[in-house]
Amino acid sequence: MFIQRALKVRIYPTSNQRTFLNKTLGCCRLIYNLMLDDRIIMYNFLKDDPELLHAFRYKTEKEYKAEYDFLKEVDAFALQQSRRNLESAYKNFFDSVTGNRKGEKVGYPRFKAKKEHHDSYRTGMSIKADLDKQTIKLPKIHDLVKFKHRFNIKSWYRYAALKNITISRSASGKYYASLLYEGEQDYTGYSQSQEKIVGCDMSLARCYVDSTGYSPGYGREYRKIEQKLALLQRWLSRKTKGSRNWEKLRVRIARLQERAAHIRRELQEQESFRLIKEYDVIVIEDLSIKGMSRGLRLGKSVMDVGWGTFVGMLKYKALWHDKTVLVADKWYPSSKMCHVCGWIKEDLMLRDREWVCPECETEHDRDENAARNLRAYGKRVLLQRQELTPMDMGALAAL
Ligand SMILES: [Zn+2]
Repeated sequence: MFIQRALKVRIYPTSNQRTFLNKTLGCCRLIYNLMLDDRIIMYNFLKDDPELLHAFRYKTEKEYKAEYDFLKEVDAFALQQSRRNLESAYKNFFDSVTGNRKGEKVGYPRFKAKKEHHDSYRTGMSIKADLDKQTIKLPKIHDLVKFKHRFNIKSWYRYAALKNITISRSASGKYYASLLYEGEQDYTGYSQSQEKIVGCDMSLARCYVDSTGYSPGYGREYRKIEQKLALLQRWLSRKTKGSRNWEKLRVRIARLQERAAHIRRELQEQESFRLIKEYDVIVIEDLSIKGMSRGLRLGKSVMDVGWGTFVGMLKYKALWHDKTVLVADKWYPSSKMCHVCGWIKEDLMLRDREWVCPECETEHDRDENAARNLRAYGKRVLLQRQELTPMDMGALAAL
């Protein structure tokens, strides 16, 4: 099955290129408005004769070009696309009126104002993109246009075909290109091997540990706050509930908790960004089980570590940057299995932070071993061509 995906990048046109892009944007807007104007005039003229109105043949881009010479200087495909945009604006309007289109009512096509917040045009002929050199080739622009993409571009794009490019200018004057690619939904064997995969095991003390052994840790301030909180909470339990001292202590605790939450959030933002930037596929464990098993011992604090928030950040950043977050099966023994020989240590306890495999005698850090197993799980899923659909489909829907 073929699917389409868009890669949005920021482009950095030179001043000449910028002039050309602005001119194309302006011409696309002009031709759209001219065509709309003609349609309105003809409607007023022929509204009592629907048959004639329906049969009326409007001018094409070519005829407008004869009238307005400067239209010849810009991208022809983009002008053509403007007409298509107008035609679909009409179609949506009529379908909305006749009830053929579900959802919110679509209004009559409007003129495009010059000072619009956001302006764009689409082009599709003689375009190219070099994902390694980060350049794109646009019609009628001799030199390549540079783009910058801070993220590792998924290998899927390298095996897909570039269909069209939408150039847009934001209200603040930044330029972007949205590259639409079409390719096989299933990764081919060798593009899979190029996907960068990482496994992450959530950790209480270290935020998470990844399959390379890296873990961020919350830092000294956070640990101090934790210690202080434990102490204050013990004091609080000895005070009379509702008393003045109890109330004062309660506020102190709440402030510290907010401070801790802030530190945690900052770190999670930073770390989820790092993971999405460096990897294509991030494999995590199913937290419902982990939360439960640890919850028995740790009580409420498990709820406070914000693993759910962290996973949420990973997921929305993955959607945004077309990466994949893969959640391992609930029953996959990521902690109990030796990543070297596959031995499953059934009697591994929660308090065992380090353990030695009885089979191959490898010494394990509990979290790192789990993260490595999660990575292996992800690799296997990719190789088995099991669909990565939950996030991929989401990415598709977000186009
Ligand atoms: Zn082993």
